[in-house]
Amino acid sequence: MNMKEWVQQVIKPAEIEKYLVNGKDFIDEKSIFGNLEKYRQPDKQQVRDILQKSLDIKLLSPEETAVLLNVEDPGLLEEMREAALQVKKKVYDNRIVFFAPLYCSNLCVNSCVYCGFRSDNCAEKRHVLTMEEVRRETEAMIDEGHKRLIAVYGEHPQSDADYIADSMATIYATKRVTPTGNGFNNIRRININAAPMSIENLRKLWRAGIGTYQVFQETYHPGRYAELHPANTIKGNFRWRLYAMHRAMDAGIDDVAIGALFGLYDWRFEVMGLVHHAHDLERQFGIGPHTISFPRMQPALGSFVSENSPYLVRDDAFRRLVTVLRLAVPYTGLIVTARERAELRREIINYGCTQTDASSKIGIGAYSEKKVQEENPDKVQFMLGDERSLDEVIRELAGDGYITSFCTAGYRCGRTGDKIMNLPSTPFSSKFMILLEKGVEGKFCKLNAVLTFREYLNDYASAETRRIGEQLIEKELQEIEGMSFFTDKKLLPTFLNYYKRIASGERDLYM
Ligand code: SAM
Ligand code: SF4
Repeated sequence: MNMKEWVQQVIKPAEIEKYLVNGKDFIDEKSIFGNLEKYRQPDKQQVRDILQKSLDIKLLSPEETAVLLNVEDPGLLEEMREAALQVKKKVYDNRIVFFAPLYCSNLCVNSCVYCGFRSDNCAEKRHVLTMEEVRRETEAMIDEGHKRLIAVYGEHPQSDADYIADSMATIYATKRVTPTGNGFNNIRRININAAPMSIENLRKLWRAGIGTYQVFQETYHPGRYAELHPANTIKGNFRWRLYAMHRAMDAGIDDVAIGALFGLYDWRFEVMGLVHHAHDLERQFGIGPHTISFPRMQPALGSFVSENSPYLVRDDAFRRLVTVLRLAVPYTGLIVTARERAELRREIINYGCTQTDASSKIGIGAYSEKKVQEENPDKVQFMLGDERSLDEVIRELAGDGYITSFCTAGYRCGRTGDKIMNLPSTPFSSKFMILLEKGVEGKFCKLNAVLTFREYLNDYASAETRRIGEQLIEKELQEIEGMSFFTDKKLLPTFLNYYKRIASGERDLYM
């Protein structure tokens, strides 16, 4: 099949139409603008009632989200931030999950005007990692201390679903002996950020052991989308992208991750789009998104838009949009990435983020080459704001009271998506509420965070990080020993046994 034929067969119109309602998708531009206009002057009591709903861990309606997006009063904004942090603590406690991106290819058939990988960017050096190179990159990431990664791919026949599945098999098979020599470390969860695919191709990724499938809509505004993505490219099809997660659900992948590239269009509209997306997934599948991302556009090689878009989001608006997302979709993980500067990222985590990356390299082959981004600007997609090592970021967050988790147990024990929610005919948020009230998943996460943090401290932490980390882990252990849930369920002896065994060199024991 030549390139043109390949491009033409990617989109399956029937796999868009099946999700439409009366021929319409879930982005109703008029109704979004209408709600943003209608709730222009939010009333204090109305805002506080909505905050209470978030604190009860209930998905907000688009109307309620519009109210929060219109709050300008500094006092009310502060109340919203406090509520956002409380929501985070209630659902995720003081845990923060770490990952890093592995860029496998920068060949791309599309021409998104904001991206360094766009096909008409002749300055970009193109490469698709061989399986040997994937293995070397994975080894370098394991040696940094990573257990979870997100593999990233341009859209191209050379990096199609079969290539992605092969690279996943290579990553999962890569093992490194621990520094103490009596166990091995590996990547235990691979999330994928790749172009929208057909259900058949998504099933290949499911069979290869995908963790979360992530696709960003870029912008939820159809008109702006059309301006940024040439119509004669695959990515030019707005609805093919809009229903990528619906197809993933149909393919059996129930951890799906949505996001918007902030800076392409009005930030309030994008937040509304994300909330509508969460509602439609819940309505059609009974499960909302596993995570939401809100990357801000960064300068990309030769891209005028990436630096001059009229919609670039300033720090203050960024703080507000993260707060509103935390409140609007309270049960979902929020990811803040190393695109952000160190001090802002540290602050944003306090508005309810649950995942972040560190020691990230977004150049093709950059982990094993040990290059900083300035050394190969023609191989990266855009420039990162924070290039600190995993050890440095973990240390900073441990000092702020956040325990690093590399837990991947939920996925491997089947406690994901609808498998943890298999209560028939109950809406997702209600199922989540039941689970949350029982506190089961969060409690397992607490144990697994301690077990994986123990592994990290033993194997990779610098002396200073270990010193701060030991104090934190001690505090966590005391809390765990004092919680009746663990004694009642007879989990404590197993946990303490695993903890002891990990401390003396065994690896990958989880609850
Ligand atoms: N090619 C696939 C796609 O577009 O879905 C997946 C990989 S693409 C490299 C991953 C994401 O990078 C895109 O969805 C986009 O949101 C983000 N991105 C592109 N250009 C960016 C920029 N200049 N700054 C920040 N993020 C950018
Ligand atoms: Fe290609 Fe994705 Fe970049 Fe668009 S954002 S040019 S599809 S790699």
